[in-house]
Amino acid sequence: MKIAFFSTKPYDRRFFDLANAVAGHEITYFETRLTRQTLKLAEGHECACVFVNDQVDASVLIALAAQGTRLIALRCAGFNNVDINSARELGVTVVRVPAYSPYAVAEHTVGLMLALNRRIYWAHSRVREGNFSLDGLLGFDMRARTAGIVGTGKIGECVIRILHGFGCRIIAYDKHRNPACEALGVEYVGLDDLFAQSDIISLHCPLFKETHHLVNMESIAKMRRGVMIINTSRGALIDTRAAIEGLKSGKIGYLGIDVYEEEEALFFEDKTFEILTDDVFARLTTFPNVVITGHQAYFTQEAVARIAQTTLENITAYESGAELVNAVKAD
Ligand code: NAD
Repeated sequence: MKIAFFSTKPYDRRFFDLANAVAGHEITYFETRLTRQTLKLAEGHECACVFVNDQVDASVLIALAAQGTRLIALRCAGFNNVDINSARELGVTVVRVPAYSPYAVAEHTVGLMLALNRRIYWAHSRVREGNFSLDGLLGFDMRARTAGIVGTGKIGECVIRILHGFGCRIIAYDKHRNPACEALGVEYVGLDDLFAQSDIISLHCPLFKETHHLVNMESIAKMRRGVMIINTSRGALIDTRAAIEGLKSGKIGYLGIDVYEEEEALFFEDKTFEILTDDVFARLTTFPNVVITGHQAYFTQEAVARIAQTTLENITAYESGAELVNAVKAD
């Protein structure tokens, strides 16, 4: 099948070319994101392969469908950037990679917790400058601390397994209980109780209307003073402006994020020599107790290889009329 591949990076090509040696599709790689302005590039391609920050809203889908695109192949798990209902109305199929390595994201999540707790990023710079003082580096034992996990699906469960190894007390909130987590002793509580009891809050639910700005002024007010908040899920789960107020007041003691609500304009590109125009993001970078990574939690060799393989298998299944096990269904 002819595939228009958007937001291509050198590492995408490396892993997809390798997987495509078996799958045998005709891939045209474009570095640009899919947007209203760039969708013309997909003309004549039955499939558009997209990533987390490609724009696949109703207007883009209408234009793509008119150009002959019948399949949107997401090479990620989240699908909040695709208007699924419009796709269904247009007869455009959407497939995704629901699981590639929950371990990758979970391990990065815990990496953020440890980096913040023990100020590893500071310590590293200090030692390189010959400053071996420990002032300001005092951390806390993870053991016996209460970790509140919002969303106990594949990634949330992996985070729980790691934190269980640390000896944390783990509470969780999800619409559906995960028996494997309960077997580890996780206690399911209401969201307000989770906010009130947690020393560390880690977000692992998808971004939906109901979870948009789950962390906001009101929920922050319910949290413990000095709470650590970690978000490796989707940026808009946190109202960033509210988080900044929480950081300024000291209510939030640590913030670790791999995702940001306006990340489309920033992430995945080298902006070293550009002026940062996003003042909210700029403010975030000034806090000594904030660590930001640029949507790299998924980025391990195992995960990227699996993403390439599953994405191409999804496309092959569509082409051959086989059952689409990874189709994204409309509401
Ligand atoms: P999953 O579908 O296995 O688990 C999601 C869980 O969230 C489910 O248990 C679901 O019941 C729960 N949930 C749904 N609505 C909820 C709500 N309103 N409140 C609380 N819980 C709710 O998904 P996953 O593989 O664990 O991925 C979780 C999220 O991680 C994805 O949606 C994606 O946005 C994000 N993600 C980020 C990266 C990264 O690189 N940073 C990589 C992969 C996935």
